[in-house]
Amino acid sequence: MIFNTNLNAIATYQAGKPIEEVIRVYGIDAKNIIKLASNENPYGCSPLVSQAICANASKVSLYPDDSMVDLKEALAKKYNLNAEHFIIGAGSDQIIEFCIRAKCQQDSKILMAKTTFAMYEIYAKQSGCQIIKTKSDMHNLKEFKELYRMHHPDIIFLCVPNNPLGECLDFSEVHDFLKEIDKNTLVVLDGAYQEYATYRDVNKAILVDVVQEFENVVYLKTFSKIYGLGGMRLGYGIASEMIMEYLYKIRPPFNVSSLSLLCGIEALKDENFIQKSLEQNAIEMQKYEIFAQENKIKYIESFTNFITFFLENQKCKSSEIAEFLMQNGVIIRDLKSYGLNAIRITIGTLEQNLKVFSLLKEKIS
Ligand SMILES: *Cc1c(COP(=O)(O)O)cnc(C)c1O
Repeated sequence: MIFNTNLNAIATYQAGKPIEEVIRVYGIDAKNIIKLASNENPYGCSPLVSQAICANASKVSLYPDDSMVDLKEALAKKYNLNAEHFIIGAGSDQIIEFCIRAKCQQDSKILMAKTTFAMYEIYAKQSGCQIIKTKSDMHNLKEFKELYRMHHPDIIFLCVPNNPLGECLDFSEVHDFLKEIDKNTLVVLDGAYQEYATYRDVNKAILVDVVQEFENVVYLKTFSKIYGLGGMRLGYGIASEMIMEYLYKIRPPFNVSSLSLLCGIEALKDENFIQKSLEQNAIEMQKYEIFAQENKIKYIESFTNFITFFLENQKCKSSEIAEFLMQNGVIIRDLKSYGLNAIRITIGTLEQNLKVFSLLKEKIS
């Protein structure tokens, strides 16, 4: 059978291994498995969220409110914008897909950093787009500008902070860059880890006014990371009404479940949970930095809730270390598929991180 030939160029996305698979394959007890592979919040989610799920469990027979007005109003209040500037998706992944499908056609060009979030490339290839990448692994705006002038791409993706490397452009750099981009190029600012970045350095904070100043910018946020709702699949995009008109043409009806919408509303109410998670992440992140320094492991300063260790000077390869950790119940991300001898570790709780350090010690020179 002949399928969509655009799909031949796509390697199926390898998500972080689920706990269930490690139980099955390695025969490890569920309580001894730690998942630090997908940058979820290790402190769970706000208790308000769990309460809302229980209280509304009987309502699942009905389709959700397709206008999603309650969550949009809550977001509008948070950002001091009109609800018309928001679109809600089953994860911000889905908004990435909407952006590409709304803007691109066969052979449209999409510009991104060499080592960045894998879903940009996967959705781009599904639509038959050409992918243009910088030579630098990390975001290098000088190179972005040169490639922009050379190719006039339909979309530019900037991942601020960047997954899987953890680096983050200053907002002032992003702002200067946007001034040089013509209005026919859609610029997607992916802020999945913005809360962590802003907490570490306010210069990294994307000011949401950017979507009013630049009609061609989409700013993406997710509930999957610091809000602790990875399992609910909830994210959103913020942009001008001009962009929204087209994204809404792509959005299928009822694309987000009613419980997910409720969880989002409850999660936004609990600032305290977010603050605690940020504080704890910063404390634990510092331990990883010290561990890396003490063990001569190369790393990049991370503005997220994960850290990437480069293993060039180590006796073990990234895949060996990832496998060894897995056998001991710790799931992390091997970056071999990005062509790097590196591992990405989500910053866990104090106890989880102690286990990671002691296992890594056994394998690192
Ligand atoms: C996790 C992540 C997302 C989106 O995750 P969803 O669960 O689909 O909301 C988007 N961009 C980056 C860079 C991420 O790391």
